[in-house]
Amino acid sequence: MRIGIDLGGTKIEGVALAADGRELARKRIATPKSSYRETIKAIEALVAQLEADTGERGTVGIGMPGAISPATGRVKNANSTWLNEMPFDVDIEAALGREVRLANDADCFALSEATDGAGAGAPTVFGVILGTGVGGGLVIHGRLLNGPNAIAGEWGHNPLPWALPDELPGPRCYCGKEGCIESWNSGPAFEAEYELNEKEKLTTHEIVAAAQAGSRPARVALRRYSDRLARALSHVINLIDPHVIVLGGGMSNIEAIYDEVPARWGSYVFSDRVDTKLLRNKHGDASGVRGAAWLWPDETP
Ligand SMILES: [Zn+2]
Repeated sequence: MRIGIDLGGTKIEGVALAADGRELARKRIATPKSSYRETIKAIEALVAQLEADTGERGTVGIGMPGAISPATGRVKNANSTWLNEMPFDVDIEAALGREVRLANDADCFALSEATDGAGAGAPTVFGVILGTGVGGGLVIHGRLLNGPNAIAGEWGHNPLPWALPDELPGPRCYCGKEGCIESWNSGPAFEAEYELNEKEKLTTHEIVAAAQAGSRPARVALRRYSDRLARALSHVINLIDPHVIVLGGGMSNIEAIYDEVPARWGSYVFSDRVDTKLLRNKHGDASGVRGAAWLWPDETP
């Protein structure tokens, strides 16, 4: 049995998967705010509960914000800031009494969709989160790509490619730079630009509905969004040429992008044709926790 834990800023979700990926049990609890010790204890209790429910001992994989720095062995880049600088892998292994595998939450999304989701069977899968942030992960022949900086797939803080004159220098990003892909293609960025241009505050859902009802400003906003995403993904295609790109996060629910983006990336990708598939995720919000479980592909610890 595989146990997957998705450690989020507001909730911790746990799932127990059978060997064939069937869900045996699932639990969700609130994340203890600002307390590292309580977070460790909460995960320990969640694993114990899942094992009590199933009557089996499982392997444990954890999806987390940020990553364990290979250089220091401590957490970096986590927006749940009380994790930063802590030796989370060592402490959670001690608490659970077993080896634990950890990965960034966008990596877990990519692994889930590559294993038995929208990208199942594809040799290479680039998984993209388009949510409050923009992140990604790369799965090659069923395994996550891991590098010395633990940032593979993190292209959200690359600059938007082929920027138009009116896109320069671009919005300031929290990372300190301007014009990052995340500062154009995240959900909050999309809504902020619409409000700036139209002097009207709408949610993404409302903008999409307005476009469907024929609103010209809403259609223009969506067209711009699709073109920027096409440019951003064309860089990825030029670099790693994945067979499948799977989208997740709130913005992945916009139906139009699955036609609009492939219709546009042909003019950016360095190829006479582009056969890359752009797909919507299969497991939705469950991909984070399922991918964490699949960090043990062979199930034997
Ligand atoms: Zn940035």
